[in-house]
Amino acid sequence: MPKTFWIETLGCPKNQVDSDKLVGSLATDGMVPAESPEDADLVVVNTCAFVEEAREESVSTILAFDDIRSEGSELVVTGCMAARYGDELAQALPEVDRVVGFGGPLTAEAATRAANAVPVTIGSRPSRGGADVPAMDLLNMARPPSTSPWVYVKVAEGCDKRCGFCAIPSFRGPQRSRPMDAILAEVESLAAKEVVLIAQDLAAYGRDQGVGDKSIVSLYESISEIADWVRLLYLYPSELSDPLIEAIAAGPVPYFDLSLQHVSTPLLRRMRRWGNGQRFLDRIQRIRSMRPDAAFRSNFIVGYPGETEADHDELLDFVEQAQLDWCGFFAYSAEEGTYAAGLDGQIERGLMNERLAELREMQDSITAARRDAIIGETVRVLVESTGRARSHREAPEIDGIIEVDADLAAGEFHDVVVTGAAGPDLVATA
Ligand code: SF4
Repeated sequence: MPKTFWIETLGCPKNQVDSDKLVGSLATDGMVPAESPEDADLVVVNTCAFVEEAREESVSTILAFDDIRSEGSELVVTGCMAARYGDELAQALPEVDRVVGFGGPLTAEAATRAANAVPVTIGSRPSRGGADVPAMDLLNMARPPSTSPWVYVKVAEGCDKRCGFCAIPSFRGPQRSRPMDAILAEVESLAAKEVVLIAQDLAAYGRDQGVGDKSIVSLYESISEIADWVRLLYLYPSELSDPLIEAIAAGPVPYFDLSLQHVSTPLLRRMRRWGNGQRFLDRIQRIRSMRPDAAFRSNFIVGYPGETEADHDELLDFVEQAQLDWCGFFAYSAEEGTYAAGLDGQIERGLMNERLAELREMQDSITAARRDAIIGETVRVLVESTGRARSHREAPEIDGIIEVDADLAAGEFHDVVVTGAAGPDLVATA
């Protein structure tokens, strides 16, 4: 009887892709997915460590799976929390059999193999499950085929930027872009209708391979020859070049996920980030002049050290003027080892919550109004599953959905007329 496994994935789509690849590697080792975590011989928790809330969720999930797992099974923790806290986490959680970094050996057999492996030198760095050279290079590992009409494709790992609040570069490392032909081969093999490109700093793709700014554009155009829809997430505003804007605006998915984080010039500089509200508005306006039906998403951090009432008011004004389709507002979380954790002017939680509530309330009414404005329009949708679809305006898993007739074939495109809206979601009929 083949051994069985269960992988529980927390955090962002990048972790989801890593888990897909771990599924592939365990299948290569002859293991099969378990019906439930209770039945699994191996339980893997792929953790997130981005902010305090995510770490708390990771620990509670690990303990919950320890409670339900079967006698004699193995509990392995991997992902960002494992990479960031390694031995410290192993000591804090004796319930866990192994804490392994990205691509580290999941099974006892693989751990023995890795331990006995003859280190291979790549340049000056040894390769034996070290922090920067994992036993398995997850980023370039093959992925099992997908049955979903849409897929995430991770095109790079790590980040070369140094935003004041972010610890990701400290455990995901510097930017490492995948070779373009490997990405195209993966897209071909997944054969999905919609490909959602992801990375920590997507628009900087290829920069570390010395091919200059054009690489994300040529990647986008090459994938657009294979998949019907190509969507890009996590676009750092200074990387949104004119050629990239023109390429996306000329395509079937004019969707711009701009990771802005704030709009106040002094505060953005304190965040060690580029731009300001007026530059962002100019860019958004330019895009709308090219594609009036373009959709926008952004994320903002509230309560960054030193954020004044004037900074907050400026962000409120921006949200009102920009009229973005979707926005996420997140409370600043002091991350150990980051530049911001040592800054003065830390904002007390009550004030942060007040500012968050004000922004979310304003954005909820903007999103609802933008959804209402689509009623009566004919839109092209990809039916994800029975009765559930998305148009170019909705990214998977984070934006609203479109409810459609149950008889529309899943995995296919259809033109539907929007007949109603309920908050972030729409209703449409063919
Ligand atoms: S761009 Fe900034 S926020 Fe994003 S992963 Fe890099 S350092 Fe973190």
